[in-house]
Amino acid sequence: MSLANELSGPLHRAAATMIHAAGEGDVERALSVDQLDLLDFAALLSRAAALRLEDLARRARQISLLRWGRSVQLFAPLYVSNECTQVCTYCAFQRRSSIPRRTLAVDEVVAEARMLLETGFRHILLVSGEHPKLVPLSYLETVVAALHPEVPALSIEVAPQSLEGYERLVHAGTEGLVVYQETYDRDVYARVHLSGRKANYDWRLAAPERGAAAGMRRVGLGALLGLADWATDVLALGVHARYLMRHWWRTFVTVSLPRLRYAKDAIAAPRPVSDAEMTQAICALRLFLPDTGIVLSTRESPRFRHGVIPLGVTHASAGSRTEPGGYSTPAPESEQFRIDDDRPAELFAAALRGQGYDAVWKDWEAILHG
Ligand code: SF4
Repeated sequence: MSLANELSGPLHRAAATMIHAAGEGDVERALSVDQLDLLDFAALLSRAAALRLEDLARRARQISLLRWGRSVQLFAPLYVSNECTQVCTYCAFQRRSSIPRRTLAVDEVVAEARMLLETGFRHILLVSGEHPKLVPLSYLETVVAALHPEVPALSIEVAPQSLEGYERLVHAGTEGLVVYQETYDRDVYARVHLSGRKANYDWRLAAPERGAAAGMRRVGLGALLGLADWATDVLALGVHARYLMRHWWRTFVTVSLPRLRYAKDAIAAPRPVSDAEMTQAICALRLFLPDTGIVLSTRESPRFRHGVIPLGVTHASAGSRTEPGGYSTPAPESEQFRIDDDRPAELFAAALRGQGYDAVWKDWEAILHG
């Protein structure tokens, strides 16, 4: 069954109903079984489960320690361009926004990457807006090829590509792909993506699978929490991750739950998500998908980040800038969104060590699989 069919199939509909109908017994069962089915996962996303948040957290902590130990892999985003032809109403890079625009020349990207390497990062995520003319596939290929000899692990978060496009990027040296669906709710998706290719829900939904088919060793999925009902989006995100893990078992899958934050000329979150709900979502994902990576960004506050790390977070960004050239020439007026944890990466790593966790700068997955 295709992912789109799975997401609209009877089992998924039953699980979506369970989110609103789950009772104490359903939550108790989900907390006691080793392998959760979709209905168990939905029960953990319910209001009934919100009343058992401490029990969810205890179970998530146990599973995380067993499967992942006490370590968090660090990575840094490197924005190469904030040019964009799309209109996503929640984003400062959208075409209608008045921010100053910039696309880095290849040597500027290399200079930014070297700053991150000097800090200690070995995993860099290249990020760009979607602009077919100013940020074409050939530019991304050139950038990746220039960085590949120096950066041990390179991932991309750019406009979704065709299978052939992803194959070219893998050939140039890309090993990881990040494509967030933003929201899995088709109606909300249509309301916040007003034009451009991003308005095509199905093209985006299938992008992670195209990346896996092209040979990306890791694929990152995500839902931008705050756009639609958070629990329903997290349910779909879990289904998406499980689908990819089943069909592309060589690919390492991560999930991310960025919460919508202030961005210039952008909408505020229509469905804000509380810290408790975010915590519940992380715990539910950890219980449903014990072997999936969970990514935490600097959108969250230091206090919240250190609070949820033991519950299953495996990867975290640190010291991030969200504008092109931000590490060498900070320009807050050009950023994509405002971050909350603005500590330098070294301070975040030291705080991690202080809570008994290793900050892993090296890319152990690459070493193990290479
Ligand atoms: S979310 Fe991505 S595609 Fe949409 S406006 Fe922002 S940068 Fe462009």
